[in-house]
Amino acid sequence: MSKKVTKIGVLTSGGDAPGMNAAVRAVVRTAIYNGLEVYGVVRGYTGMIEDDIYHMDSKSVANIIQRGGTILKTARCKEFFTPEGRLKAYNNLAKRGIDGLVVIGGDGSFNGAQRFSNEFDIPCIGIPGTIDKDIAGTDYTIGFDTAVNTAVNAIDKIRDTADAHDRLFVVEVMGRDAGYIALHSGIATGAEKVFVPEAQTDIDELVASLTEKERRKKLVNLIVVAEGDKFGGGNEVGKILKERMPNADIRVSILGHIQRGGAPSCFDRLIASRMGYYAVESLLHGRHNVMVGIVNDQMNYIPLDTAVKEKHIFSDEWLHILKVLAS
Ligand code: ADP
Repeated sequence: MSKKVTKIGVLTSGGDAPGMNAAVRAVVRTAIYNGLEVYGVVRGYTGMIEDDIYHMDSKSVANIIQRGGTILKTARCKEFFTPEGRLKAYNNLAKRGIDGLVVIGGDGSFNGAQRFSNEFDIPCIGIPGTIDKDIAGTDYTIGFDTAVNTAVNAIDKIRDTADAHDRLFVVEVMGRDAGYIALHSGIATGAEKVFVPEAQTDIDELVASLTEKERRKKLVNLIVVAEGDKFGGGNEVGKILKERMPNADIRVSILGHIQRGGAPSCFDRLIASRMGYYAVESLLHGRHNVMVGIVNDQMNYIPLDTAVKEKHIFSDEWLHILKVLAS
């Protein structure tokens, strides 16, 4: 039987995602409700190593559920890759009696949590917070819904100007080495094609299709490219298409960091609240080193190392639907 947790730490780590604040709020409020003490760790693992840790009460998380970013700040921390760095981090938790940790972040952050909990006797619970939606063991990650809606809103605006000038826009969206933002936003905005790292794109076939559609005067004005696509992102795809179709009026737009910010959507607030609640419940029930996910609307607990090793499976079904709908 694992020992009972009494004091927990919460941190946000790696890439920021809208909805992280809602998750922090849920963790803090659920912990206090259950009689636990809570400490906020500032700037992820950096704050653990530099002892930037503060006591949180219910008011510490007032008025944040609607805010993007993260009140705990986030960071990438090289020193946490070293055993010495992790020992420093442990000592800073131990001197406060912190005996449980909730890590809100992506697969890199879970890698760190997994290593840390293998070395020291502190159970860690992961909450998937990433706009990339590339984590196994959960249908949703906090921030994806907001980011993809931001992309859709921006692309809708680009389409208006593209339409007015009969231009073809190549729009690059975020997602690191995952293509979900590109796939979802591409389908939702009626794109001709999406370029994603998970699938090969045949440029010859695309050029042939664009040329054929031009001949039959079908207006095509949008291609969405994931930043991690194999061709190297929006600028590269734009360059190739301009070379292959010198008469077409082709422009490139890189959406960039606007996709990370802004108020989280209702959906992201809901899943963040639910995951935050169950992360603390997990610690209370003696779960060790799992990620709290949602699968088929049920809570799903998957070992952190599995969440890190396995890739979220990318379905070709949507790529096919997009092709049919753009025909
Ligand atoms: P994300 O969580 O968004 O995937 P990163 O991949 O940048 O972000 O990881 C966040 C942090 O997690 C890293 O800066 C590092 O401090 C820690 N981390 C990642 N991988 C490891 C690892 N293998 N060992 C120890 N710490 C790690």
